Order: sequence, then C-alpha cells, then structure tokens
Amino acid sequence: MTYVFTPPPQASLAVVNSTDRFPVRRVFCVGRNYEAHAREMGNDPDREPPFFFTKPSDAAIDTPCAIPYPVQTNDLHHEIELIIAIGKGGHDIAEDDVPNHIWGASVGIDLTRRDMQQIAKDTRRPWDMSKGFDNSAPIAPIMPLADVPSLTQGRIWLAVNGDIRQDADIADLIWSVNEHVAYLSRSVALAAGDIIMTGTPAGVAAVGKGDVMTGGVDGIGTLEVTIT
Ligand code: MN
Repeated sequence: MTYVFTPPPQASLAVVNSTDRFPVRRVFCVGRNYEAHAREMGNDPDREPPFFFTKPSDAAIDTPCAIPYPVQTNDLHHEIELIIAIGKGGHDIAEDDVPNHIWGASVGIDLTRRDMQQIAKDTRRPWDMSKGFDNSAPIAPIMPLADVPSLTQGRIWLAVNGDIRQDADIADLIWSVNEHVAYLSRSVALAAGDIIMTGTPAGVAAVGKGDVMTGGVDGIGTLEVTIT
C-alpha cells in the first residue's frame, strides 16, 4: 500500500531521562476543573459534570520552546495544567482501574485565544479555533508513572517573567484524575498515546511578545515557553 503523498511525521513528546519519545494520538482537555477558575470565568462553581474539548495531536510540542505570538488574537492566555499521558486504551474504565491505563504525567500550557473563545461563547460556536491552533499545547517531558510522586496533590504554578500568576494545588481539581479519565472513557474509547490536559487553576491572564512563561507541577516537571 502506498500513500498519495508522504504521511506527516508522528506527533510526539519527549520523555524524562530517555531518548525514546511518547507518540501523541489525541489531545483531550478538561474545561472548568478548578472552582476558583470557574468563578473567574463567570461560571457557576457548582460541581457540574466534566466537559471536554480537543486539540490536534501536533499542537503538542516539546518544551523548552520559543513560539511566535499566534495570529488572529490580541488576548493570548496561559493556562497551566497537569498532563496525563495514556499508555493503555480502554472504554468505560472504572475509576480505580484508571492508574493501570496511565503511562505517565507532565505539565503543559493550554494556550488560548481568549478573545476568539469569548466570541465563540457569545455566538454559540465551537471552541476549536480558539483552543486548537498551532503550537497551542507546549508540554514538558513526560515522566513515567512509576516516578510520579502523586496525581492527587502537589503545587501547580505559572509565572510570567518571574512574576507568579497561577499558584494552586492539583488537590483542588474538581474532578480528580481517576474521575475525569473514567468519565472521558465513557464518551470515547481511550487509546495509547492520548494526552489529557486536566484543567487550569485561577489566575489565567494575557501574555505578549517577549514574555517568558515558566511553570510546573511539583515533583512532576517544569517548563519554559517564550513568546517571540
Ligand atoms: Mn484549559
């Protein structure tokens, strides 16, 4: 079998202490998964079911990196997030079985064209173009699960040019990793290579050309992203 043209390269991410790379299949993102962030975005902080959106697999890029300020926005926002990397697929996964499907974890930024997203919300249009643009998911090297100290607690933070903007704890996730991965697996059959961006805490704000974002989840990883 041949293709009509050479297929694009497999999207992939670096792995901690390894030259092997993690092949990325899909990028799922959880919306409104920290109460204080739901509030800052003007939403009811009551525990509503988790909801999901996606980014293209090749939106996931290694860090440290320098990326150009995206087109079609004047309000690019950072959202620091715990990343879950799926190593074994499954449909209708039980909550206590979720760890058996996780390959590793990391930290990433769900970059968002907030002005475009607000128009989408106001006009009841999809979020795809406000969330799934080029380079919109810079992610630190994936840490194998055996090395991850905890997926239920740990400081999550982001600074811009050294000033802390987001500072919270993954213990504050409204829907825990086990809960939201199980929930997502009832909506789609998860597969090895799927990445889940688990939602961002409060403090999202704009970044501009020349800004340097640093961030991390304690014990799991740190990243640095420069906007050029
Ligand atoms: Mn997000």
